[in-house]
Amino acid sequence: RRKRKLTAYLKQFQLATRALPDATIVLDADLSVTWANSASARMLGVNWPDDVNRRVTNLIRVPALKNFLEAHDAADTVEFPSPVDDTVHLSVRLSPYGQGQSLLVARDVSQIHRVNTLKSDFVANVSHELRTPLTVFRGFLENLHEDRDQAPERWRPALEQMYSQCIRMHGLLEELLLLSRLESSDSLEALHPISLGTLLIEIHEEAEQLALDKQMVFNLSLDEDIVVKGSRPELYSAFSNLVFNAVRYSREGDTIDLRCYADDKGAHVEVEDTGIGIAKVHIPRLTERFYRVDKSRSRAGGGSGLGLAIVKHVTLRHGATLSIESEPNTGSLFRISFPPEMVCEDPAEVEPGGLREVG
Ligand code: ADP
Repeated sequence: RRKRKLTAYLKQFQLATRALPDATIVLDADLSVTWANSASARMLGVNWPDDVNRRVTNLIRVPALKNFLEAHDAADTVEFPSPVDDTVHLSVRLSPYGQGQSLLVARDVSQIHRVNTLKSDFVANVSHELRTPLTVFRGFLENLHEDRDQAPERWRPALEQMYSQCIRMHGLLEELLLLSRLESSDSLEALHPISLGTLLIEIHEEAEQLALDKQMVFNLSLDEDIVVKGSRPELYSAFSNLVFNAVRYSREGDTIDLRCYADDKGAHVEVEDTGIGIAKVHIPRLTERFYRVDKSRSRAGGGSGLGLAIVKHVTLRHGATLSIESEPNTGSLFRISFPPEMVCEDPAEVEPGGLREVG
């Protein structure tokens, strides 16, 4: 009777797991499959009992999943298209239990993914459509601005305002378009060797111009031998956003340190300032679009609120990480860390023909 009862329980359990909408896989300590429900076959291509004792990373060949499983962060999730059907977008979570075992759960988030894509497409389309009329305005305003001495006296302040706001709007649209482009894919198509030191020297020259009236002190500590694999325009945009922010959110006489160095964890770029700093509560939200600690200060300094969102996306696309440390009234430290695989030992490896495009 006991046997019959247990068999009935087991049947009930199997029926229940078959009804689960999420793919659920039990993994043992070395990440090999112990058990999987039927949704796992449909969503991840993992079949039970055929795939028992096979490593999950050999069954699901998705680099993002491999990195995620190696990182072991239970609080985090990773998203990628289903290896069985790329129209389905999955969000995967790993919950450890028992002695080294873990439960891998994949949820279908295609709906949320579609809404996010729609939102990004909308922003990209609106920005694109607005660019043409704005370019026309800008052209005429530039002409009028050049001849402002001939304009009636009472028109001149309005002309100045229209001209500067038009340039601001143009910059905003360009940044929105750049952000949409960065968001449309998670990885870079082509990798080029880029010398971090050369890029930072160029940005430093521009930043000095920006900081002229604030009398700021720049300290450079750059290892010019460090070359990473990446996209020059994207890295230029990310680093310059960090450096220009350091200028924008510092006071007269403050110091800005630009550093790049390499260690066993990879290559690192640091931008540190002794400026106004940021309260802890704001730090996790800084990379959201249009998130600003102080709206009026950001606008007055020519900020768009998109800079750190761009930095975050460029960082992600280079497989790098962004860390932010800050103390109000003391200063801030922004660090971008490239993993060892993005650091270029021999730049000739990256571009066929060995062309060393540096900086
Ligand atoms: P913005 O164009 O407003 O500067 P960002 O996305 O670049 O937008 O930055 C978001 C917010 O983070 C800024 O509005 C500012 O409040 C804060 N911030 C960024 N960099 C610094 C810094 N170096 N020091 C102090 N605050 C900063």
